[in-house]
Amino acid sequence: MIKQRHHIGPLTDEEQDFLISEYKEGGSVRSIAIKMVRPEKFLYRQLETLGIVYPRGSGIIICVDCQVKINVKNRKTRRCQDCSSKRHMEKITAYKKDSLKFNPEALKRDIARRRANYALVMGKLIRPERCELCNDIPVPMKDGRSGLRMDHYMGYDSKYWTTVRFVCIPCDSKQIIERGRV
Ligand SMILES: [Zn+2]
Ligand SMILES: [Zn+2]
Repeated sequence: MIKQRHHIGPLTDEEQDFLISEYKEGGSVRSIAIKMVRPEKFLYRQLETLGIVYPRGSGIIICVDCQVKINVKNRKTRRCQDCSSKRHMEKITAYKKDSLKFNPEALKRDIARRRANYALVMGKLIRPERCELCNDIPVPMKDGRSGLRMDHYMGYDSKYWTTVRFVCIPCDSKQIIERGRV
C-alpha cells in the first residue's frame, strides 16, 4: 500500500471552510483527514481552536451551530436538540420547495391544499365527524390530527380549491390506488 505524504503547514482559508463544512455535514475527522491529505491529529487540534470540541470520552461537546454545551450519547452528535430539529425542518422545507419547483402538478395540489386548510381555519369549511364515503367515525391520529383527510375530488383547479370532501384514511388510500396516483 502506498502511504500518501500528508500536507504540512497551516490550513488555508479554503481548507478551513472545507473542514468546518465537512464536519458539520457529519464526516468523521478521519475521513476528512484522508480527503484533505492532512494528519488526523492536526485536524482535531484545528477543530478545537475553531471552538468545536470533538467528543473524546467525556461525552460533552459543543453544538457546532450555537456553541452550547451538550451531553452526547453517541459520537456522531454535533448539534443540540434545538439546532438539529431546526436543521431537519430546514432540510424538509428545502426539499419540498425543490420538488415543487420541478413538478407543476404537485405545486397545483400544494396550493389547493393550502387554500382548503385556510378555509378550514377560517371556518368556511367545517370538518364533519364522519367519513363522507363510508360514514365511519375515524380514530384520531397519534399527533392529534383528525383521522379525516380533505379530498379534492373535483381536482385542483382554482375554482375547486375549497371543493373538498372529508374522507377517512382507509377510504382515501383506496381511491388513491384507484386513481393511480399519490
Ligand atoms: Zn445548538
Ligand atoms: Zn371512509
